[in-house]
Amino acid sequence: MVSATSLSTPFGTVACEKQAKELNFIEDMTKNAKAIQEKVLVEIMTLNAETEYLRRYQLNGAISNRETFKSKIPVITYEDLQSDIQRIANGDRSPILSVYPISEFLTSSGTSSGERKLMPVTQEELDRRRVLQNLLKPVINLYFPGLDKGKGLYFLFVKADTKTPGGILARPVLTSYYKSDHFKLRPYDPYNVYTSPNEAILCSDIFQSTYTQMLCGLCQRNEVLRVGALFASGLLRVIRFLQLKWQQLAHDIATGTLNPKITDPSIREYMLQVLKPNPDLARFITDECSGTNWEGIIRRIWPNTKYLEVIVTGSMAQYIPTLDYYSGGLPLVSTIYGSSECYFGINLKPMCKPSEVSYTILPIFAYFEFLPQEPTSSTLSGGIDSSPQLVDLVDVEVGKEYEVVVTTYGGLYRYRVGDILRVTGFHNSAPQFQFVKRKNVLLSIDTDKTDEADLQKAVENASELLQEYKTSVVDYTSYADTKSIPGHYVIYWELLVKDPENTPSDEVMKQCCLAMEESLNSVYRQGRVEENSIGALEIRVVKSGIFEELMDFAISRGAAINQYKVPRCVNFTPIMELLDSKVLSSHFSPACPHWTPE
Ligand code: AMP
Repeated sequence: MVSATSLSTPFGTVACEKQAKELNFIEDMTKNAKAIQEKVLVEIMTLNAETEYLRRYQLNGAISNRETFKSKIPVITYEDLQSDIQRIANGDRSPILSVYPISEFLTSSGTSSGERKLMPVTQEELDRRRVLQNLLKPVINLYFPGLDKGKGLYFLFVKADTKTPGGILARPVLTSYYKSDHFKLRPYDPYNVYTSPNEAILCSDIFQSTYTQMLCGLCQRNEVLRVGALFASGLLRVIRFLQLKWQQLAHDIATGTLNPKITDPSIREYMLQVLKPNPDLARFITDECSGTNWEGIIRRIWPNTKYLEVIVTGSMAQYIPTLDYYSGGLPLVSTIYGSSECYFGINLKPMCKPSEVSYTILPIFAYFEFLPQEPTSSTLSGGIDSSPQLVDLVDVEVGKEYEVVVTTYGGLYRYRVGDILRVTGFHNSAPQFQFVKRKNVLLSIDTDKTDEADLQKAVENASELLQEYKTSVVDYTSYADTKSIPGHYVIYWELLVKDPENTPSDEVMKQCCLAMEESLNSVYRQGRVEENSIGALEIRVVKSGIFEELMDFAISRGAAINQYKVPRCVNFTPIMELLDSKVLSSHFSPACPHWTPE
């Protein structure tokens, strides 16, 4: 399908043939979205016709048309698949979901019953996803020419592999990618040179990896043309790391020696070859980092940086002001929208404002369907047939919101991802979506996702500690405080104290904070314990009557009194100011909650 050899593309003129080919591929794909989607569906269903899962629906062989597919295969959530996934995890190698063997599980940041969801994938599915990485750079190069003249300081991380009881690898999607030969043995591409060596990226000790990547980034500061991490929260964490460790880093640079805390043999071997004493650079780092003013620090240390490549859509939007502060207003580029379940698409306008970012869905990754979000457009068709009415990729309507549902080569069939997207337009016939929200997520600092039920359970568990003080939680709300790095959960509690002679002490309240953390899901606890990406949970005890004031406030702004519900999460500044003006005491979790690798 791809035939172009010239350097002119529908997106503009590019510098090399490889990039022209990739851009033309995007153009072809988006022009033929409908036909590609039909082909993808037939391919997936034909390939997997003999799986146990599809046989349950008595399809009598492969499905060759969408109508049969839609009428026979149910729309499901992770919970519907859990017993099949458990069997695979326990070592059942029969073709349950996919005819190809499940090569590994991708551990999602979405949770079920408090544990990470396990997404089965095949090698074929993983190979398919690699295409996306190739498509990102040519798009960015259209807007930032000359990226082949320097390097990218990207903070990339892996986690240690774990195995399911049946011996199948379970790890995050990017760990799987960075550990693959696609990444490790990638051919040299002048547009894609990183300052971080593979040795540092592939070290699963977060301190050693971050330290080495930062050290390499500092040593090559003038070559750096772009700075990035996957999510905004991750980039801010490395800035915080620099604030805490610059002295040791400057020492290593001055002396050409490596911090003895870096013990990973392959990192040591690599760094001892490249580290040379550079007192001038060490002095520069000391001058920049020893002051209290960190505004624009990224630009100051890496003066040739053209943009920051970090996802700032969805829950990451809360970090935009802080990123602007540290970067001195560099453009923020959100490139990619993907998940453990499948990859979705890319941002074809990397220079647009964060609030305008839309991802163009690429039809080759999966068969995509969309569940309309308006109650009036019959998410349920009613009557005996209660299967939701889903819309195909090319048929979504601009301005409407949908939940995305995927059928993947890896063995998910009509699976609800849980992301709500709004259609903003089309590129050719492929729709473009703004990420609206993750369904039901109330609080998120990094990749953690806490919903209303999780929070309710945590409050209930923690408030049991108050029983012996004859005290109960009358009402509560919360917000994700991202002013500090790392951010933390703040929970406002209004207490009813029945025995003023025996009120819960600061120590008891701290234990309540810890009890809440113990109740939260494993992604939250891992963020607290292993990654230090989430700070200690805080309970702010507020004056009684404040929740009535909140209700009055909402009613004054038009809420109906009989429909009013206490918002379990607040982010509207006047409401937060009101709550904070009535804080009686504040308490932080005194320790990390329990977490061990799954
Ligand atoms: P995981 O499966 O842990 O990789 O998480 C995937 C989820 O992260 C998606 O389903 C989204 O909810 C969220 N996500 C991924 N990419 C983006 C993006 N570009 N903008 C906003 N949220 C995103």
